This record gives sequence, C-alpha cells and structure tokens, in this order.
Amino acid sequence: MKTSHCHCGNRLFFENTLCVRCGLETGLCPECYFVTSLIPLGDGLFRCGHADCGSRVQKCYNFNVENVCNGLIPVNGGDMNEWALCAECRLTRVIPNLSVPGNREKWRLIEVAKRRVLYTVHALGLPIGRPGNTIHPKLIFEFKADEDVPVYTGHAGGVITINLNEADDVERERNRVAFGEPHRTLVGHFRHELGHYYWDMLVRGRCEPAFRDLFADERSPSYEDAKVRYYMYGPPPDWQGRFISAYATMHPWEDFAETFGAYLDMVAILDTASSLPGEQLRNIDCAKMLASYQQVGILVNELNREMGIQDLVPEVFTGNVIDKLTFVHRLIAKSSLI
Ligand SMILES: [Zn+2]
Ligand SMILES: [Zn+2]
Ligand SMILES: [Zn+2]
Ligand SMILES: [Zn+2]
Repeated sequence: MKTSHCHCGNRLFFENTLCVRCGLETGLCPECYFVTSLIPLGDGLFRCGHADCGSRVQKCYNFNVENVCNGLIPVNGGDMNEWALCAECRLTRVIPNLSVPGNREKWRLIEVAKRRVLYTVHALGLPIGRPGNTIHPKLIFEFKADEDVPVYTGHAGGVITINLNEADDVERERNRVAFGEPHRTLVGHFRHELGHYYWDMLVRGRCEPAFRDLFADERSPSYEDAKVRYYMYGPPPDWQGRFISAYATMHPWEDFAETFGAYLDMVAILDTASSLPGEQLRNIDCAKMLASYQQVGILVNELNREMGIQDLVPEVFTGNVIDKLTFVHRLIAKSSLI
C-alpha cells in the first residue's frame, strides 16, 4: 500500500477522506489508483490532484452520502450522477440494516478492509469478475447480521459473505481465542475468502492435477466429511511441518485458501514496506519474496514483542508450505491469461 501526498505536501493515507492540514477533500482515484486531493470544479465534480493524473472525477454515493467509502468515479464529460457507485462499491450486493444502531460503523469498517485487500488484488493484476466484463465467476460481497438464521462468513460460487459480528472487536477476539487463531481480522477474512474465489477461477477445470499433487485430493474425503472430522478431532499433531495453519489441515480447499491468504498478507506487507512494490511482485522469484518477507517480518515481530502484541509474520516457513506458496505465486503470474 503506497501512501501519497496532498497538493499542500501533506502525506495522505489510504482511508483518508480529508487532508488534515489544508482541509481539501481526498479520495481514491480509479485512474491513477492513488489517494489524492480533490480539486473542486463545481457541481459535484473534481479534478484528481495527483501530479501525473488530473482525471475528472466525482465521489461515490457511499462516499458522498453514506460516509463508508472514499472511492471516486471517472466522469468523461456530462454531469455528476449522485446515485453512482464506485467500482468497489458495485461489488457489494447486500449491506446491513442501517436502522440498527452501530451497523453503519461496522459496514464502514468492512468496506475499508475490503478496499484495502482489493488494492493488493489490483496491484497483482489479478482478474476480477465484474458486471460488464467476461470474467467468471462474478465477485459479489454480502455483509449481513445474524437474524432468524445465522450468517456464516464464507464463499460460494463467487459470493463472499461476511458476518457483521466480524467488525465487532470483542466478538472477533472471542472467536479468535475460541478457534486458537494467531490472527483474526477483517482483512484476513477477505484474503482467505478470495482464496476460495480464485480457486474457482484459476484452478477448477484448469490445473487440478498439479493442485492435488501439493494440496491433496479435494474430492476425497468430501468437504462435509472433512469438516466433521476436523471439528471432532482437531488438526493432526504434526501439522506445523506441512501446513500454514491448523485450519488449513481441514480440507485441501481450506489449505489453498489459507495459503492464498498468507500470500496476500506477504504481498501487502512487502508493498507497504516498499521493499518490493506490488506491481513487480508477480514477475519476481517467490524465494526472493519470501527472503524479503522474513527480513521485514523479523523486524516487525521484534517491534510487536516490545509492545507486548502478537507476532506479525510466521517465524519459519517449512519446505511444504514454501512449495504451496510458490504454486499460488505461479498461478497469479499466469492469471492475466484468463
Ligand atoms: Zn492538503
Ligand atoms: Zn488520479
Ligand atoms: Zn464507493
Ligand atoms: Zn475457507
């Protein structure tokens, strides 16, 4: 995640909607993909303030009215459309009931995490199935609260569902401890569920034999049988040698999603640490990325320990996990052929 600068020279961060120094509004430009200052042109139109861009844009409805987004929309002539949604908000099909107190803030936190993760997806050049393009499956988000029926965070056929409770710090931490997870975050959920989405797009019907060689056969045992077994007996005692997490041992699909999520963690951290920019990562050797990640990770882990908080990065990746991460890396490098 790159930071950028306002017209006034102040540093801008990804979620900013306002420059705290000069008071100009700021947003994420869909043309240059920087958070930039918005130079007002009147009638709800703006010019992107990034030096090399200057695109004519308007704010997303969810920015202008709902305050849960900072996305912009290109306007190539004509007037502003007050109902228009930015490209990322168009992917959200179900939003929470906003008449329930607290739901708007939870929705905002979920949208922030979603956009941050999609930024990495964009930097890697991964295809996304959107309305109006020919890529399948279409990516759709649903953000829902438990009502008469419980809502399960998960993925099915391109639809990623997030339970609103995951935006509640107390609930999420309770679940993290209950499931024995080192991290449980909104960005982590999106990265994991995108793993299932990209399995459907990049592995299904394309390279299952190579997938099965590394991750095992997803047809046997069935997903349902594997799930029952996992919740009854837990992970095998020696899982650390072969899997990136305990949950990855449940079924090859979960192993892939956990590995894919860990890969996106690595790319996001390397991009932010500026050691290796996101756009270059798909073209370099996976071993080089892992070496760089360990270097950054060791430093950040030590800083975290100084503050008494959990490690950011796993200390070691075993040979088997490295092979799985390399499989994901190669899959992403080839994904532009979709
Ligand atoms: Zn400024
Ligand atoms: Zn721009
Ligand atoms: Zn938006
Ligand atoms: Zn999963």
